[in-house]
Amino acid sequence: MDEKLLEFKSIIEQSNNIVFFGGAGVSTESGIPDFRSKDGLYNQKYDYPPETILSHTFFVNKTKEFYRFYKEKLNALKYEPNITHIKLAELEKQGKLKAIVTQNIDNLHQKAGSKNVFELHGSIYRNYCTYCKAFYGPEIVFDDSDDVPVCTKCGHLIKPDVVLYEEGLDDEVVSGAIEAISNADTLIVGGTSLTVYPASGLIRYFKGNNLILINRDSTSYDNMATLVIHESLGKVFSSI
Ligand SMILES: [Zn+2]
Repeated sequence: MDEKLLEFKSIIEQSNNIVFFGGAGVSTESGIPDFRSKDGLYNQKYDYPPETILSHTFFVNKTKEFYRFYKEKLNALKYEPNITHIKLAELEKQGKLKAIVTQNIDNLHQKAGSKNVFELHGSIYRNYCTYCKAFYGPEIVFDDSDDVPVCTKCGHLIKPDVVLYEEGLDDEVVSGAIEAISNADTLIVGGTSLTVYPASGLIRYFKGNNLILINRDSTSYDNMATLVIHESLGKVFSSI
């Protein structure tokens, strides 16, 4: 086995308060495409860039168009957790991993069995009526129709509990993530280039011994890390 993977394994064995911070790269290994990718399909079907469509203003003003994009591009219901999700859930069961902080909204960590997950950008699995606040699971949104989902109790519009562009992060989720990161002895950061807010800000709260970065490309945090592995997450987590 590769020297770095052995070191990774050894750090995991010695750690008892691990936090994992994950970005989009965690989910792409499950086959979930990045909605930002400018494929031909998208160019033919939508008149606006994804960042515009997934904004608060757009949701309010062009709700039908918002949901056309959302239903097609963010439906992660059929995807399954990969080896990284599974190993992280096992580490939590063993009591070694205390929390996952994720930028993903696909619920795959929970699907793998993880319990303490801070979803910075919300989840497609939670949806609320904008009027009476009734809760709905994902099925009411991801049906086969082109319709805008409405509340079965009061008839008002349903909004996903996903943080749209122009919207702030949930305070409780952020403070929970900060607390977990500041108490951790080992922080593993994977599948994110750490360029996007709030990732870069949150890892500054880490005061533990081992900062591990797993990413295919270099990041500006590489020189701060105890261990940097430029490999796929799947390969790294398969080694433990
Ligand atoms: Zn309602």
